[in-house]
Amino acid sequence: MRNIGVIGSGIIGLLAAHGLRKAGHQVTLYSDKTPEQWLQGRPTGTAARFDLSLQLERELGLNHWDDQVPWCEGAHFTVCPEPRNRLLTLTGRLRRPGQAIDVRLQSHRWMNDLVARGGRVEIESVTLERLEQIAASHDLTLVAAGRMELCQLFARDAARSVYDAPQRQLAWMCIKGLKMRHDNLPLVPVRFNALPTAGEVFYMPFLHKDVGPSWNCLFEAKPGGPLDQFRGATSGEQVVEIAKGLFRELFPWDADWFQDAQLSDPNGWLVGAVTPTVRNPVGRLPSGREVMALGDTVMSLDPIGGQGANNGSKQVRNLLECVAGHGDRPFDAAWMHATFERFFARHGLPTYTFNNLLLEPIGPAARELLMAQYGSDGRADNQSAVQRLANAFTENFNDPAALTSVVQDQRQTRELIAQTTGSPWFAALARGGLGVARGQLRQKLGLDPKPPPLAA
Ligand SMILES: Cc1cc2nc3c(=O)[nH]c(=O)nc-3n(C[C@H](O)[C@H](O)[C@H](O)COP(=O)(O)OP(=O)(O)OC[C@H]3O[C@@H](n4cnc5c(N)ncnc54)[C@H](O)[C@@H]3O)c2cc1C
Repeated sequence: MRNIGVIGSGIIGLLAAHGLRKAGHQVTLYSDKTPEQWLQGRPTGTAARFDLSLQLERELGLNHWDDQVPWCEGAHFTVCPEPRNRLLTLTGRLRRPGQAIDVRLQSHRWMNDLVARGGRVEIESVTLERLEQIAASHDLTLVAAGRMELCQLFARDAARSVYDAPQRQLAWMCIKGLKMRHDNLPLVPVRFNALPTAGEVFYMPFLHKDVGPSWNCLFEAKPGGPLDQFRGATSGEQVVEIAKGLFRELFPWDADWFQDAQLSDPNGWLVGAVTPTVRNPVGRLPSGREVMALGDTVMSLDPIGGQGANNGSKQVRNLLECVAGHGDRPFDAAWMHATFERFFARHGLPTYTFNNLLLEPIGPAARELLMAQYGSDGRADNQSAVQRLANAFTENFNDPAALTSVVQDQRQTRELIAQTTGSPWFAALARGGLGVARGQLRQKLGLDPKPPPLAA
């Protein structure tokens, strides 16, 4: 049994603490909030998780909300070359659904669970001096303090960090009063409108701590563009009102659905920005002792791909495997680096790359894949080739290692299209292109850009 300290009671610190406790280790979690204070505070974000992450939570006995949560069954994307123009849609189904639980509810419960399972919880805001004491009295100290001050202990990895500034201005809100299903969609998806000149907006089914099944909405505004309207907002109500105006102006097909949105609770909103950053996983304290970063502390991602918590969860599974394989040997800097590199090669790099791709203009290979899947409708019984392509793309949110390298490479993308459709890639593209042209014509006539009927 090892003695392990964890700083931070966000999703990742708590997952690590529970996993280590279940493996029989002595665990102390240091949190700047009590479980009750979690319920009263600001959430970190949506933290929707896909199946690989949910599997870990099930193994740890932390999946308390499976019978209440509005499951996310897939993704519905609309790509708009200009405002009010739906050029292309993708409706993909996940192999197994995802879920988003209010992180305030979750951390509240998981902290109490940890104590009930023999872990210790200390309520304090850990300073650098205190971190020295904690590191001195534990075999391993993990810092899962999010993007707060302690993350400065871990140097930015300039070679891996693609950006040195935020790529989007974010406005995020917990909203109630909306239907839980969209008309004309056979599944409850994360719904995503992309307007390359302005940014993106998406909504995710969400289990709110007070309201229950409801929605999160996130605007990802390109700085200075037409979606970048939230910077001066001083209340959640104001954020929701600005959002309503933007829907009417830019995405009118969702305006009616969004019209009745109300803020779910006074703290259920955020405005800000994230600079996507990879850090050195090892922090050296003034004494020379080393501590290890986890979660957002070591990798912070723009929320565009819904990957931050999923990425952290994959780090935790990797950590648990590496701790188990290390026996009684010391957790030194070499072990910390090797542990992180094992994760980064398998999950971290594909996740970071995929998430960053979503921040950039769409590349030629991804454009071909989107065109080839045109006509997907997300029905559970739809086994068509276009649906399988749409599903494969959607599944990449669960495991970005699956398709990220393919959608960056035209040759691999064309092979995938040909293999999946059983016909030459250009035939699938031509069919998709015809459907898109037909949709454009229909919109010019004031009709919905209905996708073409599905191929067999
Ligand atoms: C708008 C938005 C939407 C998002 N949507 C998604 C999504 O759909 N899917 C997804 O996977 N990810 C999403 N993310 C990212 C996700 O929320 C984060 O990756 C995840 O919450 C990080 O968890 P964490 O435990 O590493 O850090 P945090 O959640 O930040 O938790 C760190 C905790 O440590 C505490 N702490 C900090 N310093 C100290 C200290 N010195 N002493 C004690 N405690 C301390 C903090 O108060 C905090 O409670 C989103 C992010 C945003 C901003």
